[in-house]
Amino acid sequence: MTPVAGTDLLAVPTSELQAEARALRAGVTGTRVTYSPKVFIPLTMLCRDRCGYCTFAKPPARLASPYLSLDEVLALARAGAAAGCHEALFTLGEAPEDRYPVARRWLDDHGYESTVVYLAAACAAVRDETGLLPHANAGALSPVDLSRLRPVAASQGMMLESLAPDLACHRGAPDKAPARRLATLEAAGSLAVPFTTGVLVGIGETRADRLAALEAIAEARRAHGHVQEVIVQNFLPKPGTAMHDHPPCPPEELWWTIAAARLVLPPEVHVQAPPNLSVDLRPLLDSGIDDWGGVSPVTADHVNPERAWPALGLLRAATEEAGLTLASRLTVYPEFALEPARWLDPAMRPAVLAASDAQGLARDDAWSSGGAGAPPALIGPGAQGDGASPARHGAAPAGAVAAVLDGVLLGHEVGEDEIVTLFGARGPEVRAVCEVADVIRGEHVGDVVTWVANRNINYTNVCTFKCRFCAFSKGPLSLNLRGAPYLLGLDDITDRVREAEELGATEVCLQGGIHPSFDGDYYLEVIRAVRAASERIHIHGFTALEVTEGAKRLGEPLAAYLGRLRDAGLATLPGTAAEILDDEVRAVLCPDKISTEEWLEAHRTAHGVGLRSNVTIMFGSVEHPRSWARHILATRTLQRETGGFTEFVPLPFVHMAAPIFLQGRARRGPTFREALLMHAVGRIAYRGAIDNIQVSWVKMGVEGARQALAAGANDLGGTLMDENISRAAGASHGQRMAEDEFASLVAPLGRCLEQRTTLYGRVAAAR
Ligand code: SF4
Repeated sequence: MTPVAGTDLLAVPTSELQAEARALRAGVTGTRVTYSPKVFIPLTMLCRDRCGYCTFAKPPARLASPYLSLDEVLALARAGAAAGCHEALFTLGEAPEDRYPVARRWLDDHGYESTVVYLAAACAAVRDETGLLPHANAGALSPVDLSRLRPVAASQGMMLESLAPDLACHRGAPDKAPARRLATLEAAGSLAVPFTTGVLVGIGETRADRLAALEAIAEARRAHGHVQEVIVQNFLPKPGTAMHDHPPCPPEELWWTIAAARLVLPPEVHVQAPPNLSVDLRPLLDSGIDDWGGVSPVTADHVNPERAWPALGLLRAATEEAGLTLASRLTVYPEFALEPARWLDPAMRPAVLAASDAQGLARDDAWSSGGAGAPPALIGPGAQGDGASPARHGAAPAGAVAAVLDGVLLGHEVGEDEIVTLFGARGPEVRAVCEVADVIRGEHVGDVVTWVANRNINYTNVCTFKCRFCAFSKGPLSLNLRGAPYLLGLDDITDRVREAEELGATEVCLQGGIHPSFDGDYYLEVIRAVRAASERIHIHGFTALEVTEGAKRLGEPLAAYLGRLRDAGLATLPGTAAEILDDEVRAVLCPDKISTEEWLEAHRTAHGVGLRSNVTIMFGSVEHPRSWARHILATRTLQRETGGFTEFVPLPFVHMAAPIFLQGRARRGPTFREALLMHAVGRIAYRGAIDNIQVSWVKMGVEGARQALAAGANDLGGTLMDENISRAAGASHGQRMAEDEFASLVAPLGRCLEQRTTLYGRVAAAR
């Protein structure tokens, strides 16, 4: 309990409450303020209640139809999806069929038992046809109706408004009876429905009444954990309503109530104030809100149609001017999205996952790893928020991210919590993390951008393993069989190497599935096939899984086996098969593959026999930033022990054809913000351990790779003739990058491009 909350709030000056509320917010949500990009769907504007302040409800004579048709619903939802919304907010009157025969007839004619039954059908259609997450705001409902909506709505809501029993504005509104509202709140809790509620300020209630309502909400949250947010909404009189001449809620009453809500509610409950109902946004932030609620780029606020939404840029600017950052969220808050078994019906989970980022917030761009779409500009000229943010030149708003960066600039090494904090950066914080990474890049490797001329040879796509993310292998779990199973002959490998060398390649990268017929000798034969074509070409091949499996199938100690591969010509191992080095995640992604410790041991052993290797990370499917941090720290620790890693290669998950995504059990890969941060945070976390951070142009695209080079990366990887694995997963970037294409990628950065060997020696002078 805070010092202020321990006293009688009614006696505390507003400014004191606000200060206490801000401090409490800083401890829970840090610098982050959220909003939900949403489209409003007014399913019916008929209502059986008559509230004195309402212009939403209309009589049947003023409506073309009692209900929106499913086609109209879907048209609104599709427009919302096209504009980047994630939420479809269904607003509707309460049980209009009980008051209006025309509503009852419409439902009968269309085969729906009630408005809520029709609402459930509309929610299901929106979820299935558009991927938007429905939020049902259907008023006071029975447990049966709440359960009916749970499989089709990610969250539900009902404003408690007030528990004052005798408000004039509620006299004609049976559904506004406090007992009925409280029963709905309680039932939603029992049914584990992520729930939004709130209070209406200035409708004739007193401050004590508001505290009583907030206490009741707090009690329900403590009992069930389901109240995710509380809206504190100020009353504004509207022409044509019974309360048209009632004074508007004084701003200070709103601010007092926001601060009181923050202090009365359990700290995890988000506090929201609608930004379109106040002229000045700053006092709302200063009173302790951490959410702006739904903001629609498509539809008006149907409850307050005279109050337009502020443009997103203005909302961002107001938030950043207060030293905070803006993040888009889903209708279901992260704490609920990240605990789906408790809070989400199985039928809602795939849609929530597909719309989520790694923190359980809304994906904040339409970019996909390996996709053809351009990424948003997060750094550099034209960056998101540039021109609106006072912090755009590097400084992060005071908060956890800034504190970690301050430590980094003083030379501190980041640990697990600090890495997780950096991955949570938003807005100006992202720019600040990238700028620090860029400075460290300059200090450690200078301004040169490197690339290597190489060819990929994926000798087989047949694999006995069942990695759930893998669209490349042709095993029983492959849902989308692109091309037939194949196994290259050794002669074919020789020919490809000869051709690659003629084209200037200095390296061949060899990896493939684990074919049932392979034993460890196969990999020796592959090396001999390469050497038959070239004595010089660098052989970069065989994942930790392949060498571990090869040694096992021969019954030979791994060190001895790796020594034989080295003597035959193997020089370096690719770091793939690492995916995420966190066994909890591996159990979901690749349960039959080598464990974290086996991957680390394979590389430790390889380094021990004089082979070098690199670190990769495949991120953006099912795991969260803490697993990224564990991966980075496990490999950093091994690097301190052996010094054998040459580079860190972030590989954003390509979701399009990945079985685990198609089964609705993975996200759509990382957002671009997450992908960019992986390069930047990698640079910061590996400082003094791994000097080279490579960006995969196959996955990041040209624009994305350019931003990564300004965020800590210094290497573009290979020319990659015949890249098959990302393409099998759905990546659309080309199969090959020529030197002049690398040059035009790097030119706008003003850095020089140099061709390197696999081990970062130079092949040619700067061009
Ligand atoms: S990722 Fe590798 S080991 Fe796993 S199924 Fe695909 S080819 Fe096989």
